[in-house]
Amino acid sequence: MFENSVFSRTGQSWKLYIAILLMLIGSFAPLWDGSGINWTWGTVLAIVGYVYGTVFIVCPKCSNRWFWSAALDATLYGPLFRAPACPACKQDFGPK
Ligand SMILES: [Zn+2]
Repeated sequence: MFENSVFSRTGQSWKLYIAILLMLIGSFAPLWDGSGINWTWGTVLAIVGYVYGTVFIVCPKCSNRWFWSAALDATLYGPLFRAPACPACKQDFGPK
């Protein structure tokens, strides 16, 4: 998934998956009584997932926090998922 994205080119897809997973669990687990997760914990999990993604997915070259930058400027989401280059320092992580 997103093979040509900048975070999979830099080996950070797993961090994105953890972030998405936490946000999904936090958002949907409280809907089921058997999950043992109430809305308070669901909200905490979702926020932890979001913060994890924004803080730990960084450019190996310039340390730009890609998803934090994208949270501030939504036009960056497209390039993050489609282009193998850092939107901040333009370092290309694509295949040579
Ligand atoms: Zn960079």
